[in-house]
Amino acid sequence: MPYVHDTLTRLAKSSPAQTEFYQATEEVLECLRPLFERAPHYHDHSIIERIVEPERQIMFRVSWVDDAGRVQVNKGYRVQFNSALGPYKGGLRFHPSVTSGTIKFLGFEQIFKNALTGLPIGGGKGGSDFDPKGKSDNEIMRFCQSFMSELYRHIGPHTDVPAGDIGVGAREIGYLFGQYKRLTGRYEGVLTGKGLNWGGSLGRKEATGYGAVYFAENMLSAKDESLQGKTCLVSGAGNVAIYTIEKLYELGAKPVTCSDSKGTIHDPNGIDLGLLKQLKEVQRISLESYLHEHPDAHYISARDYPQDGHAVWRIEGDSAFPCATQNELTEADAKALLANGVTCVSEGANMPSTKEAVDRFLEAKIAYGPGKAANAGGVATSQLEMAQNSSMEQWPLEKVDQKLKQIMADIYRQCADTASEFGEPDNLVLGANIAGFRRVADAMIEQGVI
Ligand code: GLU
Repeated sequence: MPYVHDTLTRLAKSSPAQTEFYQATEEVLECLRPLFERAPHYHDHSIIERIVEPERQIMFRVSWVDDAGRVQVNKGYRVQFNSALGPYKGGLRFHPSVTSGTIKFLGFEQIFKNALTGLPIGGGKGGSDFDPKGKSDNEIMRFCQSFMSELYRHIGPHTDVPAGDIGVGAREIGYLFGQYKRLTGRYEGVLTGKGLNWGGSLGRKEATGYGAVYFAENMLSAKDESLQGKTCLVSGAGNVAIYTIEKLYELGAKPVTCSDSKGTIHDPNGIDLGLLKQLKEVQRISLESYLHEHPDAHYISARDYPQDGHAVWRIEGDSAFPCATQNELTEADAKALLANGVTCVSEGANMPSTKEAVDRFLEAKIAYGPGKAANAGGVATSQLEMAQNSSMEQWPLEKVDQKLKQIMADIYRQCADTASEFGEPDNLVLGANIAGFRRVADAMIEQGVI
């Protein structure tokens, strides 16, 4: 069908130089071929043309004053991609690599991810090229206040509800919330990932990582296997990686790696979770310091590593959990993982595997859970936070975790059933994209041409 090529050509012209966005779009559109053969009415309603175009994109200047008294300027973004299923929902990413294309790719993925949760949330994303690394608390606060001074007029509990992503955690959400409240005079659930004693949900911080592990358990149990006793490779050292590691231990697996932008730790005895939390959540310092307490662990500096790939994927293990960032797992990495006998990959990050790497996993028919399904536990729990805020309740951790577990099981079932319906039972990429798309597209048709 020519529509994939035509759409990508049109996007390349109208929205130039957004390679990650084209990559995400191509994957979704390729997967929809069998659906369009059976349901051509989606073409008649021009759903593709509409769904690849954000409903609204906001770009703004963020000026702030650093500790030396100098004026700094960053770019701010919010892409309100699709509201067919509910208010725009998706995180904010603060990282120097962020461009409008990054935010568009993340927003596009978010539409289908949020649809898969079965909850009433549309897709959006935002962020800035601001680099939180090395900034003082006061600088972070001033930046967040300036960012919110523009964003507040575009968001609200029934219109758009941002949350965290890379570089945005509880500290940043706190400063953003404070400024929203100051500007609007309203104390409401306009952000998720809030502090636990002022409107946050128990279990939200852990949810993305826990969810990615629950998703892996679902994939494995369909093959009469489990994570018990498995050696696991985890990349990243942020919120998603930390709570992936925590849940892996709870389920009897042994996570042996983690990584940050400077290097990879391989601890064959199992990652020291308490130390990892201390280094990354409290001290916010490089993983290299892990060696001070565990001199027999291995540290592989990113500088000493070849361009094509990531050291973490060359280590032996049974299951892999990419929890760092997009395109961190290349085709060469996928081949190395398969050669080492990895049988399960569950993505905690957004689009961490390149297209070629995904193709290798699908060809090998291993249990492969794409990010938009496997990491949906974070945003799903954000919706649980919204529900608690609107009813002025706080649910116990057990209730939130029970719901998260059920949501992950339902997402897995939906992806697996849809993959079977279209004749490729092992292909959860196909299942996730068709199931997510169908829910959004049907709502768009019922709501008319808008
Ligand atoms: N940034 C997360 C994601 O990629 C969470 C978004 C949210 O909780 O709204 O899904």
